[in-house]
Amino acid sequence: MSMHSPITFRPHHFLCTLGFQGMGYSPVFVDNFKNVIDALTSGALIQVTFGIDSICKPCPNQNGTVCNKQSFIETLDARHAKALQLKNGDTLTWADALIRIRTHISIDTFHTLCEGCPWKDGGMCESALQKERD
Ligand code: SF4
Repeated sequence: MSMHSPITFRPHHFLCTLGFQGMGYSPVFVDNFKNVIDALTSGALIQVTFGIDSICKPCPNQNGTVCNKQSFIETLDARHAKALQLKNGDTLTWADALIRIRTHISIDTFHTLCEGCPWKDGGMCESALQKERD
């Protein structure tokens, strides 16, 4: 990841990043995700987008300008944008994002926001959120 390319996140990827435990859709997807997290922990800025972002880019579900699960993903993004008060084009650091997550996302809220996501039942997102809130 070049330090010069801005990191972009669609709204639901803030929680995905919190819960990331090295699993994902493909090896290249996972490697990219790790690189994004490295950049974030080095203080890189995140720009909010409502489309294909820095996490989606190498994803096997990415189909040009949309996700293969586009309608569900739009639902997820709308829920997370509302909860985290994110608007298209907003910029924030990962440290800022963690404050928003702690402030706005209880465990109950998480279960509502992430309802329907196939990763939720694995429990890693809930435990990461619990740890962040402790
Ligand atoms: S599944 Fe869709 S929203 Fe999720 S990373 Fe892949 S392309 Fe992006």
